[in-house]
Amino acid sequence: MILFDQVIFGPIRSRRLGLSLGVNLLPIDAKICSFNCLYCECGFNTTMKEFPFPTREQVAGILETKLSQMVADGEIPNVITFAGNGEPTLHPQFEDIIDDTIALRNRFCPSAKVSVLSNSTRVHKPHIFSALSKVDNNILKFDSAIDRTMKLIDQPVGKHINVEWLIDQLRRFEGKLIIQTMFIRGVYNNEAFDNTTDVEVEAWLNAMEQIKPQQIMIYSLDREAPVKNLQKVNVDELNLIAEKARNRGFLVSVAG
Ligand code: SF4
Repeated sequence: MILFDQVIFGPIRSRRLGLSLGVNLLPIDAKICSFNCLYCECGFNTTMKEFPFPTREQVAGILETKLSQMVADGEIPNVITFAGNGEPTLHPQFEDIIDDTIALRNRFCPSAKVSVLSNSTRVHKPHIFSALSKVDNNILKFDSAIDRTMKLIDQPVGKHINVEWLIDQLRRFEGKLIIQTMFIRGVYNNEAFDNTTDVEVEAWLNAMEQIKPQQIMIYSLDREAPVKNLQKVNVDELNLIAEKARNRGFLVSVAG
């Protein structure tokens, strides 16, 4: 499993995103999340009770130093992405940090996009909804429209999380969001799951029609997962699912 050992990581150059600078708001030595996905490349959640989050001031200071250095070197980032060792919206000063980041982006690299990868479980909180509404790429997870499958794959920590609740919350963005879905099959605790079946894909497409995302990103297993009995869905199958979504009018990208 891989943990990010810094608050700011990269920049990483990718074909899809260009030059991307990462921000990890979670502790550097433990994973903390409101999901506990079977496929999480950071492993399962920590059992630690105290979480040493970096402060808002630390994040802003490190980001300012990094961006000014990159601009001086002629390396203008295309995107600043909040990801890291768990769910970024768990940081108690998340909205303030987003405001600081947008201000620093405007000062140093106005063309860069601010992206957040979140698991959707905290968007009911007004300050999280407000923060995510301000970013350029509000990327939210939705892995299955069937409750049993979502709960098996994502292992939500909070009791309030179910598919109906997630759809209602995601609809509140009125289309200003990108949905990210992991397609995967496997067995966990003797229970088999597969979110690529016809029934699953049909339910997922119906959910997309209610949520109306501006874009959908689909992908499958890429790195080592904490659970062994997981099976990657190949790119041909992902493309077939993408085609079905495009036929319903969605903009879809496939990471193979
Ligand atoms: S939501 Fe993301 S960080 Fe959280 S467990 Fe799932 S994959 Fe890992």
